[in-house]
This record gives sequence, structure tokens and C-alpha cells, in this order.
Amino acid sequence: MPEAGDVCGTCGACCASLIVDFHASCLASRDEGGVPDALTVPVIGNIVRMRGTDAAPPRCCALDGEVGVAVRCTIYEQRPGPCRDFAPYAALGIGDPGCDDARRRHGMPPLSV
Ligand code: SF4
Ligand code: SF4
Repeated sequence: MPEAGDVCGTCGACCASLIVDFHASCLASRDEGGVPDALTVPVIGNIVRMRGTDAAPPRCCALDGEVGVAVRCTIYEQRPGPCRDFAPYAALGIGDPGCDDARRRHGMPPLSV
């Protein structure tokens, strides 16, 4: 997931491709250092969603910049679990199927070639 200065910082495809859901216990209102509540929408029960990730086309509201050029996650230190777990080695140039699919959707070659 995008942090300036690495491979993801010139991509951002996953943040503009996938629905990002997580448990509300990870919201800042419940956990110091958590995801800002205002950037989420309720889904069902204790599940919340990053705002914009279910839009058409999808794009997380926390993503800044132009996909495929230069991007950054504006809440990088507070990003939710699915973002932390997604393609953990992509920043080092090592992709996985989910990362590769997201990049293809945005016209970028997979990292896993
Ligand atoms: S799709 Fe892969 S390379 Fe692109 S930002 Fe996400 S994890 Fe990084
Ligand atoms: S919270 Fe950050 S890393 Fe997660 S989808 Fe949104 S912009 Fe991407």
C-alpha cells in the first residue's frame, strides 16, 4: 500500500480497486492511532468500510495523487489491517496475485513477472 518513495508510491492500484472492510474496533474513536472514523462508512454490525472503496470506479478517500504516477496514503500510519496485510512485499518490488490483478486493472504490468 502506497508510501512515498517505494514501488507502491508510483502505483496505488489496490487502493483504487478493492473494497476495504474491517472491524470497527480499529476506528480511532475506539483505538488510539486507529482509522479516522470520518473516512469510513458503516457496513453491517461492527464492520466498517473505507469510504470510496465501493464506489464505481472504486477509490479510497484516503488516497492522494494520481494512480500509476505518484500516490500516497494520507493515513499511512493509521491504515486498517487489510491495507497492512495486502501484498506485504510489494514495496520491495515483490508482488502477489492480488497486487498483480490490481495493477493490471489500471494498465500496469504485474510485479510478479
Ligand atoms: S497494487 Fe501492489 S504495487 Fe500497487 S500500491 Fe498496491 S501493493 Fe503496491
Ligand atoms: S487506507 Fe490507505 S492504504 Fe488503505 S486503501 Fe485507503 S489509501 Fe490505500
